[in-house]
Amino acid sequence: MLWPITTTINAAGHLAIGGVDLLDLAREWGTPLYLYDEATIRERCRAFHAAFDARYPESAIVYAGKTYLSPAILAILREEGVWLDVCSGGELGLALRCAFPAARIVFHGNNKSPDELRLAVEAGIGRIIVDNELELGRLIALGEELGRRVPIALRLNPGVGAHTHEYRLTGVVDSKFGFPTIDDQAERAVARAIGAASVELLGYHCHIGAHIFELEPYRDAVAALFRFAAEMRDRHGFIPAEISPGGGMAIAYIPEDEARQSAPDQIASVIGDALRDCAAAVGLPAPRTWIEPGRALVGQAGVALYTVGAVKEIPSVRRYVAVDGGMADNIRPALYEAEYTAAIANRPGPRFHAEGGTASEGELTSRVVGKYCESGDLLIREIALPPVETGDLLALPASGAYNLAMSSNYNLAFRPAVVFVNDGRARLTRRRETLDDLLSAEVFES
Ligand SMILES: *Cc1c(COP(=O)(O)O)cnc(C)c1O
Repeated sequence: MLWPITTTINAAGHLAIGGVDLLDLAREWGTPLYLYDEATIRERCRAFHAAFDARYPESAIVYAGKTYLSPAILAILREEGVWLDVCSGGELGLALRCAFPAARIVFHGNNKSPDELRLAVEAGIGRIIVDNELELGRLIALGEELGRRVPIALRLNPGVGAHTHEYRLTGVVDSKFGFPTIDDQAERAVARAIGAASVELLGYHCHIGAHIFELEPYRDAVAALFRFAAEMRDRHGFIPAEISPGGGMAIAYIPEDEARQSAPDQIASVIGDALRDCAAAVGLPAPRTWIEPGRALVGQAGVALYTVGAVKEIPSVRRYVAVDGGMADNIRPALYEAEYTAAIANRPGPRFHAEGGTASEGELTSRVVGKYCESGDLLIREIALPPVETGDLLALPASGAYNLAMSSNYNLAFRPAVVFVNDGRARLTRRRETLDDLLSAEVFES
């Protein structure tokens, strides 16, 4: 699904989400505005839990925090029993300040700093996913120094491809992430880890990339991890307690994606079967697992709201619809040609949920662009929208993942406010930034 599960057209003929009229939200908090539908986040968490409980109960659902992190979302995830993956000292610091249980935190990253590693070990987080030899050495030393046995897993590079943008591939041989398995680097790490008293090697992890629709790459990745696991058992006697195929499950951003998207049940079936079958095939016990969905938990819950400003028609070319946000709050179209759709929240019309594709009668192909000083600052390259007017409220669904997380203050833009909606109520979870916020770190010379 593209829109939050509570999306309706209300009696006034406006789009409403979580029982709240989007026009009321825009009036109260201004635009650009991001909203999250709490019911959708919870529904996604529960669907993944139910799917894995039924098909591979020895599993945890670990939210990839880099997708979007805030105290409000952490509170919901914690209530839902979801674990958290972090990839920086900042994300870890936020989680610890929000009293997220340290034992349920997994720490990723290809170049964690000594300070970040120390923070993680001192906090007693659940898993540190070791990416390279330098880090393994640092963790062994830290564990000795602090008198801890640090729980770790090795991130392996399984050499598995998938159909996604090159910038989103992380499990191919030529990648900055993980221990290569084409030579003996990964094996040396296993030998070193099992020989060190200050780390506890739990098993192996990989992450093949992001926004992956097919499920075969997950099966391939699991198979590759087990091939390696069997070799390590044979040569070093090490049996992994855990094996994780990472995250990266795709969501629908445009109507055409909806049929391609896998349901949690399908994902759990494929991964659960792969873990069981591969373990049996090489004679290893079926391990515990965890998966790391990011966008699949929160992408659909988020909607971006913009007010239309200038509308420019270039005869026999297209219509440019400029909104009051853009690449500062959503860099994804500029960064890797991410696609979005939109609806006019103040008069969505019957096909609000199916906007996109080519223009039909009364519609002109439009390009939705931002207000920042780059030609590449666009949100939707091509969309068939009914005539749009200045002042219209444009709602972009599937905006919950990586938009705000990657947002910037380019052009000294103020990051948008964020509201969570639920049961007819909206609550502000982050206020719009101000000039004072932006200048608060500057050192003014007197
Ligand atoms: C980014 C990331 C994820 C989540 O990716 P999604 O595409 O949002 O599911 C999971 N695991 C790791 C290691 C990641 O880097």
